[in-house]
Amino acid sequence: MFSRKRDGAKFIVTAELGRLARWLRILGFDSIFFDRAKKKDIVIESLREGRIILTRDSRLSRFSGIRMIRIMSDFVKEQLEQVIRVLHLKPDRANIFTRCTECNTPIVKLYDKEALKAKIPPYVYKTQKEFMRCPGCKKIYWKGTHYDLAKDFLTSIKI
Ligand SMILES: [Zn+2]
Repeated sequence: MFSRKRDGAKFIVTAELGRLARWLRILGFDSIFFDRAKKKDIVIESLREGRIILTRDSRLSRFSGIRMIRIMSDFVKEQLEQVIRVLHLKPDRANIFTRCTECNTPIVKLYDKEALKAKIPPYVYKTQKEFMRCPGCKKIYWKGTHYDLAKDFLTSIKI
């Protein structure tokens, strides 16, 4: 039960860590990205939604009652390793690529491939079978080369 709860960790990622936010989403973690927000807004949102703040800004730690991880590395891979290590997360393979990397919305499977024909490159239409769509920003996903690259990246993470 406890590990389930931890694996459902939700995050707020501050502006300088945009790539980290994308990778957390790829792993299936609910991660909102705060672009130009004031520190106070980040803290309020964190408390309201029970989100852990990921930031490089040590000044945020002066707010009490928040859960925060100060990210140390400049490299996204090490940043991701730090978060996984500190929170003892066990990313579930079944959750990989279930969330939109652009806007964090859970993506849904598309069954009507025909309807996509005009929206995707012909080669992709011909070679891919499975498509997903983000109900939020309407981005369309398929398991192309980026999918394999992402899997390689995740396999290479040292935790
Ligand atoms: Zn989206």
